[in-house]
Amino acid sequence: SSWWSSVEPAPKDPILGVTEAFLADSNPSKVNVGVGAYRDDNGKPVVLECVREAERRIAGNSNMEYLPMGGSIKMVEETLKLAYGENSEFIKDKRIAAVQSLSGTGACRLFADFQKRFLPDSQIYIPVPTWANHHNIWRDAQVPQRTFHYYHPETKGLDFAALMDDIKNAPNGSFFLLHACAHNPTGVDPSEDQWREISYQFKVKGHFAFFDMAYQGFASGDPERDAKSIRIFLEDGHLIGLAQSFAKNMGLYGQRVGCLSVLCEDEKQAIAVKSQLQQLARPMYSNPPVHGALIVSTILGDPDLKKLWLKEVKVMADRIIGMRKALRENLEKLGSPLSWEHITNQIGMFCYSGMNPEQVDKLTNEYHIYMTRNGRISMAGVTTGNVGYLANAIHEVTK
Ligand code: PLP
Repeated sequence: SSWWSSVEPAPKDPILGVTEAFLADSNPSKVNVGVGAYRDDNGKPVVLECVREAERRIAGNSNMEYLPMGGSIKMVEETLKLAYGENSEFIKDKRIAAVQSLSGTGACRLFADFQKRFLPDSQIYIPVPTWANHHNIWRDAQVPQRTFHYYHPETKGLDFAALMDDIKNAPNGSFFLLHACAHNPTGVDPSEDQWREISYQFKVKGHFAFFDMAYQGFASGDPERDAKSIRIFLEDGHLIGLAQSFAKNMGLYGQRVGCLSVLCEDEKQAIAVKSQLQQLARPMYSNPPVHGALIVSTILGDPDLKKLWLKEVKVMADRIIGMRKALRENLEKLGSPLSWEHITNQIGMFCYSGMNPEQVDKLTNEYHIYMTRNGRISMAGVTTGNVGYLANAIHEVTK
């Protein structure tokens, strides 16, 4: 027997399995609404024009030296402005401990490790449902997980009453993971008033909010508007943690560029926290990659390129919002007696359709439409060309 004879294959990732099956299907009508990446109206991946321009400017002008352990200082500075606000007093007062991270996933993991190291007895409350990787991240960081109510299967919206109860019933000073906007997989976000109530109750209970913001700008088309949840918590005086990612809103998926920040009481605490975050990163990957960070700092540091980026994010968000409308209208035109209002009420990349696993299997087997069995439709995979076909198939399997 060899060293690794006891190693069994790991379970397949449900999302990657969908893509594999899609690629293996030779039917010309096939549709992939499983992917979590933006596609244009021809179903093609997109490189933003602001990114192309940043790359032209960078070409030949950069070296390949290591970044500092905490990553690109300029990138981090610009990234914090997006979340905390251009004129944030917390940035001016140097109260935010922040490091460049390996995209949003890396930011979450670094935070989970930090939480485990300095508050080893703490737990994390995670919404039901959530992005599946959240469970893996806090599990591997060995932070015990609890859950809180979030989605209401009947209304296909927020279960606000149950959510508030769970916040109230959690022990004082609990850690909660919140999706800042465009909740994955449900597309269901609290309203502004509901965020205010959540923030108020967090204050009463002394809870800690860790925001995962993987879709800033992707929900409404306006990064300022999508940061509202965070701004409300900041106004109320919370010391938050935050994961940011440029995967979706700049289309930099494979560049792995993001930021982890922790708002501290004062500059002294922020310096200490940042040094510990760097110490956690050092034995894992030493320092983060340079190219994506340079793209981001070039774009956000130049007023014209930033303006172009804002325009392009809005184009992506608007296309998705338009496809929501088209999908709902098509279903209603076909005479579906079911309510499809949630398709347009939900926001961001995903629509939690309410279809059950058997209906999804039927879509795949009979109509060559590929998606995860929880009924999550990636709106980014819906196009003018396939929306009619998709609506018809959904209508047939939900009759
Ligand atoms: N958090 C949520 C809720 C997500 O949906 C995703 C991506 O799908 C991520 C984090 C992390 O993505 P990345 O690591 O590519 O930034």
